[in-house]
Amino acid sequence: MARGEHGLKGEELIQEGANFLVNTYTRYPILLVRGEGMKVWDSNGREYLDFVGGIAVCNLGHCHPKVVQALEEQARRLIHCSNLYHIGPQVELARRLCEHSFGKKVFFCNSGAEANEAAIKVARKYAKERYGEQKYEIITMEGSFHGRTMGALSATGQQKFHKGFEPLLPGFKYVPFNDLGAVKDAISPNTCAVMVEPIQGEGGVNLPSPGYLKELRELCDQKGILLIYDEVQVGMGRTGKLFAYQHYEAPPHIMTLAKSLANGVPIGAMVTTEEVAQALSPGSHASTFGGNPMATRVGCVVIDTLLKDDILQNCQQMGDYFLTGLLELKERYDFIKEVRGKGLIIGAELEFGGKEIVERCLERGFLINCTMDRVLRFLPPLIITRKEIDLLFAALEEVFSEK
Ligand SMILES: *Cc1c(COP(=O)(O)O)cnc(C)c1O
Repeated sequence: MARGEHGLKGEELIQEGANFLVNTYTRYPILLVRGEGMKVWDSNGREYLDFVGGIAVCNLGHCHPKVVQALEEQARRLIHCSNLYHIGPQVELARRLCEHSFGKKVFFCNSGAEANEAAIKVARKYAKERYGEQKYEIITMEGSFHGRTMGALSATGQQKFHKGFEPLLPGFKYVPFNDLGAVKDAISPNTCAVMVEPIQGEGGVNLPSPGYLKELRELCDQKGILLIYDEVQVGMGRTGKLFAYQHYEAPPHIMTLAKSLANGVPIGAMVTTEEVAQALSPGSHASTFGGNPMATRVGCVVIDTLLKDDILQNCQQMGDYFLTGLLELKERYDFIKEVRGKGLIIGAELEFGGKEIVERCLERGFLINCTMDRVLRFLPPLIITRKEIDLLFAALEEVFSEK
């Protein structure tokens, strides 16, 4: 029986957690202790195939050798030094992000929420300096998710996350996703930005309708409004291109990244244009750990590996295979209402809550996720193979047939 570092068994640590941790998560009753590629193991030595990937974080798979090596080397060299000084890996990661996107300037932080805070702040400052004090409103989408800090929470267009934390930050308006007319109607002389996930993740894997993002960009340009993409979940190869917006011929003015940017080492980034970046100057925004040598060194390795090792191509191919398989299941199981996705962010909307399906899959050794109560969500590492997808489908077939 595997023992944790405090000499406790997995089950005991799970019990202890209830005593010492703030109860902010509904957790499955397993304690994970090791990972490699598509696999993770619990404290009893039981193996699982991971179709959650830390919620779109471990895009290169668990403990990718190049990630581990970069972390080990950097940990021996320099773990932290502060942004009072220049940090080499930070510059190298910023250069890579700009070389492969619309971006010209990058601000680093530590999470998705924090990246969105930076986006909100830079958008407001840019617009106020150009157009006046009242130009601070941001239009965001119903069903969106932008994080849990007060600014990012206020941007999030889902009441269930707001409840109990009001008053929210003023200046946000929510409109339905995929409704250009609603954005037009919501625009006022005070609007400074529109913020949108190119594909909504937590909101249930909702894809943009054809032309929507392009028209949104055109509308923003006409009105002198900034377009912000939250690519925290769908960036870094998840959709089969490095950034999701690259499918839609509609670059933003600001893009936020986090989750898989360093494959599990905490990091966030706000990528923007030269012009927008000029709104921030020394002292106007900062983050102690932001662009830390460990995280940015790993970020460089993540981008290089994604672009070099045919991983994006694998993501597209396996994504198509996965989606086709789910569509076949949908033919046979009436309770699957809709299947949707791009690359390896894939959702299957059910007619009932998906909690029990997730539990039955866990019992069979498969980690899957469910969002918006009824949408089974699959976010596996992008290195996944057909064989692993087939194994999941065999398990899903068993679980579905019991329904
Ligand atoms: C996860 C997520 C966030 C929040 O990221 P944190 O690192 O948890 O703060 C923001 N936006 C999107 C689209 C996300 O999926």
